[in-house]
Amino acid sequence: MMPIAHGMIAWLVAVLFGKEVNDRRLMVIAGVVLDIDGIFILFDDALFYEYHHTFGHSLVFGLMVALVASLLSVDKIKIFFGALSAFIMHIVADLIGSNWPVTIFSPLSDLTIPSSYFLTNYQIYNIVNPIVFIVCVILIMIIMYYREISPIEFISEKLDKYIIERIFPIKFKSDGEISE
Ligand SMILES: [Zn+2]
Repeated sequence: MMPIAHGMIAWLVAVLFGKEVNDRRLMVIAGVVLDIDGIFILFDDALFYEYHHTFGHSLVFGLMVALVASLLSVDKIKIFFGALSAFIMHIVADLIGSNWPVTIFSPLSDLTIPSSYFLTNYQIYNIVNPIVFIVCVILIMIIMYYREISPIEFISEKLDKYIIERIFPIKFKSDGEISE
């Protein structure tokens, strides 16, 4: 699945668990950091094919990531579970949105979870992934309207506010009329 889709899914999970913007940022990181095992694509194809969907996509790593996110967060217990959920959602998305198995307990076990073997590549890349992408965009637009936040807050809260005000000018011009 595309990294941008993973980022959007992670942010949607983050909105469910986190009240503080920094806590949400930590959960977004937890939901995308898995692809660190794909870093080899930059310099060695063989290593990429050997290691992608292994140590980064392992629940062992996921527990460590959730623990670190929790320690750095304000709302520690909630963010532990939020970060773990974001991490697991990435694995789920890869399982349905790719044809690449995941070594889920790497490096402790070689057990692999097969990805969408019941779907063809065509169905994965031309149907499943675009649907997931569109659903994410719709959910994000709804949250942008009602909660006045978007994934752009990851980079800058100011920029986020600026963009939302321009996408939904009606809401901000007649704020008094719209009840929250
Ligand atoms: Zn991945």
